[in-house]
Amino acid sequence: MGKKLVILSFVMAIILSLSVVGLNFYNSNNANIKASISVAESISKLVISSLNTFNSNKNIHDSKEFLNSLSTLKGINNLWLVKSESLNKSDINNQKQIKDEIDKKVLSTGLVQYKLDNSFSKTTMRISIPYYINIENGNSCINCINISKEYKLAAISLNLDLIETQALSSKLIYVLSFFIFITILTIIYLSSNIIKSYYNLFDVFNNSIKESSTGNFALIAKPKNLNNEMNLLVDRYNDFMSILKNAFIDIDKRLQGFIGNKTTTNIINPLEESKEIVLNLSNLYQFKKEIELDNNKEEIYDRLSQIFINQFNIESFSFIEIDASKHKMSIVKEVGKTLYCQEFIHENPELCRCARTKNDVVSIDYHNSCPYFKEEDNYHYCTNVDISKDVNLVINFVCKTTTELEKLKDKISFVKSYINEAAPSIEVKLLMDALQESAFRDGLTGLYNRKFLDEHSKKLIPYAKRAKINIGVLLLDMDHFKAVNDEYGHDVGDTVLKELARIMTENVRESDIVIRYGGEEFIILLVGVNTEEDAINVAKKIGKKVRENEIDVYAGNKLKKTISIGLSMFPADTTSLDSAIKNADIALYEAKNSGRDKVVRFKEEQVSSVDLF
Ligand code: GH3
Ligand code: MG
Ligand code: MG
Repeated sequence: MGKKLVILSFVMAIILSLSVVGLNFYNSNNANIKASISVAESISKLVISSLNTFNSNKNIHDSKEFLNSLSTLKGINNLWLVKSESLNKSDINNQKQIKDEIDKKVLSTGLVQYKLDNSFSKTTMRISIPYYINIENGNSCINCINISKEYKLAAISLNLDLIETQALSSKLIYVLSFFIFITILTIIYLSSNIIKSYYNLFDVFNNSIKESSTGNFALIAKPKNLNNEMNLLVDRYNDFMSILKNAFIDIDKRLQGFIGNKTTTNIINPLEESKEIVLNLSNLYQFKKEIELDNNKEEIYDRLSQIFINQFNIESFSFIEIDASKHKMSIVKEVGKTLYCQEFIHENPELCRCARTKNDVVSIDYHNSCPYFKEEDNYHYCTNVDISKDVNLVINFVCKTTTELEKLKDKISFVKSYINEAAPSIEVKLLMDALQESAFRDGLTGLYNRKFLDEHSKKLIPYAKRAKINIGVLLLDMDHFKAVNDEYGHDVGDTVLKELARIMTENVRESDIVIRYGGEEFIILLVGVNTEEDAINVAKKIGKKVRENEIDVYAGNKLKKTISIGLSMFPADTTSLDSAIKNADIALYEAKNSGRDKVVRFKEEQVSSVDLF
C-alpha cells in the first residue's frame, strides 16, 4: 500500500513538473511575441525618424544605406519598406516590394501583422509595422494624429531572429522545472516517512481486526512517529479490545459453567464457542420443558435418543439402568448396533466399571480400560448419572473409529448436560412406576394383588381371544391354615404364606401370573398353556413341592403344609375370566370336600352339587 502511494506521488510530481514547464513555455512564448513586437515598433520609430531626417535633407542615398545598415544589426535578419500601389510611381528608392502575405495584409488592413516561425534549430519572427507617408512633403509618421487624403499607407517589414531570446527563456524554464521537480521529490521524500507510519498503523489495525474476528483480541503495539491524535486512537482501540476480550472470556467462562468444561483443550474462537453454547443452552431449555410433559421414562429415553442422533450425530448407543441393591441390569433403549458388553455382565452388573467407579470409561484412554467391552474393532465411551439412590444410568456410546470417538469427546460436555437434565425427570418416572407397581403388589408376598388382576384382565382376555390361546386358571387354598395361626402365631402363618408364594413363582413360567387373591387364597393364570393336562401337571407339581417343603418354625421344629387346587380352563369352560375363577372356586370346594391336598378339574355337574351356603 505504501509503495503504491510513493509511485503515485512520483507520477504526480512528473505531471506537475510537466504542467509547470508547459505553462512557463506558453507564458514565455507570449512574452517573447510581445517583446518582439515592441522591438519591431522601436526599430520602426527609429526608421521613420531617420527617413524624415533624410527627407528634409534630401539625402535619399544615405537613407537607402541606412536601411541596409540596419539589416546587418544583430537580431535583424532583413528589413525593407513596402508601399501601397498609389505611392509606387513617386518612390525614389524603389522600395516597394511586397514580399509575402504579411506585407499584403498590413497594407490592406493598416494593422501590425506578424508570424512566429518556431522550429528546433531557429526561432524567427516575420513582422510588418504600418506607417503613413505624406505625399505632399514626403514625411512619414507611425502614430499620426490627423490622417488626411495626402497620407498614404506604407509598412516597415522586418525579419527578426529570436533564437537567443528563445534560448534564454528555454533555459529559464528548464532550470525552473528542474527545481520544481526536485522540490516536489523532496516533499514526497520527507512526507513519505510520515505517510509510511500511518500506513503501517493502518496495516496493524487491519491485521488486528482480522485476528479479532477469529477470537484473538490481541492488543496492538504503537508504531513510531505518530502524532498525539493517532497515539490516542491506538490507546482507545487497545482499551476497546481489552474490554471485548475480558467480556468474551467472562461470557465464555460463565456459559461453560452451565454445561461443564470441554474435554479437549483446542483453542477455538470464544465468539463461536459462546454462540454454540447459547444455542445448546436454548435447545437444552427446550428439551427440559418437553420432558416434563412426557408420560413415562420410555418417552424421555426416546427424546434423549433423538437429541443424540439428530443434534450430536451419534449413531450407536445404549441406555442401561443398573440397580445395585437388586443386582439388576436392564437395557432400556438401544440405538444402532447392540450393546457390546460381554453377556455375563448382565448377571453381574456390579462389574460395570462405569457404574462402579461413577467415572467416564473411554476405550482409548487406557488400553482395554473396560475388560468387558467385547468389540475390539470399535471404541466405547461410557458415562453415567445417578437416577436415584440405588439406580445408576450408564450410557454406552460405541464409535467405529478413533476420529469418531475424538469428536464425541469434544461434544461430551454438551451430551452430558442433556443426560443430567433428563436424570431428575427419569427419577420421577421411576418413582411413579414404583408407586404404581406397589399399588398392584401384595406387601407380604410381593405377588400381584387382586387390583392388578382386575386391571390386567382388561388387556389379557381380549389378547387371549385374539391370539386364540388357552389360560389355565388355578385357585389355590392352604389346607387348615387357620390351625397354623392358632398353633404357631401369625408370624409363622405369614412365613408359610411367603414360602407358598416362592414355590408358586418358581414353578411357573415368567409369562404366567401369580396373584394373592385373598388371605391364603391364590390364583395362578397359566397364560398360553397348551392343554388341560399340562395345566393339571403344573398344579400337581406345585402341590407336590408344597407338600415336600419344610418350613422352619422355631427351635429346629419343621412344619409341612398342603394345598388344595381347583382348575378351570379358559376359554374351554367359559369365555369370561370372572366365570373361570368362579368355576375354579367350585372345583376347589370339591377338592376340599373330597379330602384336600389335591387338584380338581372343574366340571359342569359340580355346579349343582355345590352347596355354597
Ligand atoms: P381349609 O382347609 O378349609 O381352607 O381350612 P382353613 O383353616 O385354611 O380355613 P380358611 O381357609 O377359612 O382359613 C383362613 C384363615 O387364614 C383365616 C385367617 O386368619 C388366615 N389368614 C388370612 N390372611 C392371613 C394372613 O395374611 N396372615 C396370616 N397369618 N393368616 C391369614
Ligand atoms: Mg381360605
Ligand atoms: Mg384354607
